[in-house]
Amino acid sequence: MYRILFLVALFLCMTCVPGTRAAVARNVILVTTDGLRWEEMFRGAEATLMTKTNGGVKDTNGLNTRFWRETEIQRREALLPFVWSVMAKQGQIIGNKDKGNRIKVTNGRNFSFPGYSEFLTGAEDPRIISNAYLPNPNTNVFEWLNTQPGFHGRVSAIVNWDVIAWVLNVGRSRIPVWTGLRLPENAPPPPSIPAWIPDALAGATPLWKDVIPDTFTAEAALHHIREARPRAVYFAFGETDEWAHDGRYDLYLSAAYNVDRFLSRLWTLVQSLPEYRDQTALVFTTDHGRGLSPEKWKNHGAETEESGWIWAAMLGVGVKPLGERVGGEEMMQGQTAATVAALVGMDFKAASSRAAPAFPY
Ligand SMILES: [Zn+2]
Repeated sequence: MYRILFLVALFLCMTCVPGTRAAVARNVILVTTDGLRWEEMFRGAEATLMTKTNGGVKDTNGLNTRFWRETEIQRREALLPFVWSVMAKQGQIIGNKDKGNRIKVTNGRNFSFPGYSEFLTGAEDPRIISNAYLPNPNTNVFEWLNTQPGFHGRVSAIVNWDVIAWVLNVGRSRIPVWTGLRLPENAPPPPSIPAWIPDALAGATPLWKDVIPDTFTAEAALHHIREARPRAVYFAFGETDEWAHDGRYDLYLSAAYNVDRFLSRLWTLVQSLPEYRDQTALVFTTDHGRGLSPEKWKNHGAETEESGWIWAAMLGVGVKPLGERVGGEEMMQGQTAATVAALVGMDFKAASSRAAPAFPY
């Protein structure tokens, strides 16, 4: 009897303790959305900001119908249905400060280039002090995977912001990147995208000059999965940041909902293709948080309280279905890079000694 109990306990231990990883994915997909707060991720829409005065909301009734619910759990499910109905059930969500589970941006700057660099290269770099078009001196996880057997030539990125090509240092890393905008002069040819996407993009009203609307990034990304079947790929979205800076809480929420909708379409597509079905892992995170309501939520940065706290979600092969994580050691943004590698059975520490270890997934 005791022997059976012991064996049962041993089995439970092997399947549930983070660090004991049985399965390794063949493919890994990283998706980010710029500056989506941990507050919306875990609490859903915030009442204080669903107004004309604080949130610049045009149609408050319409916004309430879409995203207001009685409880926090219902509100986050209404805002991010794929994250909370699929990723939280079959995978893990980390970074809920309300439950003592924290991920910190360690670069201290809490804006984009330092954040993208931190999660792509595994460590903060005090030399990165702006969003300028400068090649990142640090090796990123996709660049390193691209040098590994089985991955070489199967690594790529489709992103919404032209600066990400510089964060990835495409001139050196040779990662094919599509931004919908001008690439650095020494960039390799971008992934092939159907002509209607740049055509439609050319006729779209620009938000900011260095980004494209998320709709185009989403369509290009899904096309890329269907046609090129990369093994390690990065997709970046950004309207969450742009609409928040513009003081439009309604459109910020809408952008977050649309990224969740993309994740749902992506996962359905992945599970329909033989190269990906039951062989793929997905990581979803952000570059920084934002300030508090009623005013500072629009911005982020070294001086903005709260904008150094982020979240991450993981799903797929190798990720234990532990759901929303509670308590535990404080984690760091840089752990994302080693997680992307570890999910496909690779140790990014071997490439970059400065890189933080993988999340305990
Ligand atoms: Zn921003």
